Amino acid sequence: MQSQLICSGCRSILLYPRGATSVCCALCNTITPPGMEMAQLICGGCRTLLMYARGAASIRCSCCHTINVAPGQAEKSTSFSSSMMRIFQHGLLRQRDKEAPRLTLSGFQFLLMDTNAQLGYIIREYISNSEVYLMR
Ligand SMILES: [Zn+2]
Ligand SMILES: [Zn+2]
Repeated sequence: MQSQLICSGCRSILLYPRGATSVCCALCNTITPPGMEMAQLICGGCRTLLMYARGAASIRCSCCHTINVAPGQAEKSTSFSSSMMRIFQHGLLRQRDKEAPRLTLSGFQFLLMDTNAQLGYIIREYISNSEVYLMR
């Protein structure tokens, strides 16, 4: 499993094995502690690839100012399927035609919850959505 960080010397993206205590840049030889793990996300508004510090709850796009909810807020949730994440984002983000998605009230409340409560919320959303699906 590889992680990414931004070199503190030359700002290039470095790959390193997860768990490493320091990462030496091959380009400028700067040693960067992997405290700021970076993750990537496709902006929901303009499809730009965004880099953000892992653990951030939301990422504001510098191009279109859409606030994107970090998909892996809980690292534990990496086992969740992408369809589950879609359901989850559908519940928390509201999008109208030609408008950037906005966080719903429940989206804001979600960001204030702790990780366990967030997982519980996702599971409840998932179950209630599957029930609706099955009743059709
Ligand atoms: Zn470097
Ligand atoms: Zn954007």
